[in-house]
Amino acid sequence: MVGQLSDRVLLVDDEPLVRRLISGYLVAAGYVVRVAVDGLDALGKLREGLPDLIISDLNMPRMSGFELLDVVRQRFPQIPVIVISGVAADEMPEGVAADAYYHKNGFGFDQLLRTVSDLTRKPPLRTAAPRVDNKPVWARWDGNGHYTLNCEDCLRSFSVPRAPNMGRDEKLTLCVHCGRTVQFLTSDGDPQDPALP
Ligand SMILES: [Zn+2]
Repeated sequence: MVGQLSDRVLLVDDEPLVRRLISGYLVAAGYVVRVAVDGLDALGKLREGLPDLIISDLNMPRMSGFELLDVVRQRFPQIPVIVISGVAADEMPEGVAADAYYHKNGFGFDQLLRTVSDLTRKPPLRTAAPRVDNKPVWARWDGNGHYTLNCEDCLRSFSVPRAPNMGRDEKLTLCVHCGRTVQFLTSDGDPQDPALP
């Protein structure tokens, strides 16, 4: 039950004690472990490189494990995810699309290691999604002075005020949620666009 040299695990939990305990076990078993304190922090870690497996808590500030799972399934469906929760349940909580469920207080670490080992050795469960990096997104005019954008990193939407002379060129802004630079194009829907005749 020893991890292979290349097996990298991203552990996401807002409780320092849980991070320390589980990462200690995983490192002792031979895994390379990175930790994140919540979903948004995890997305930042994913930008630096993709792990072979994600272990994530569900209830966390800023971005929960539920939302993180959604984002990972859409953007990195090839990465298996184990959900860990303090809530006692024999089975996966309803509505959670994880590959395995681990109850923090109810299961032994041996079982977690077995699950990690099983999931990292299996051939990928799903094929990778095409990369969307550096592709500008279309901004939607909200009819009230703002454009609505979808961040392709955290998949949340936010709005930016329309600046005078924005023009039609590609523009840059920062996602208010995750801090990622978003390139966007403004649509033709803005009736106040000075570029319109
Ligand atoms: Zn974002």
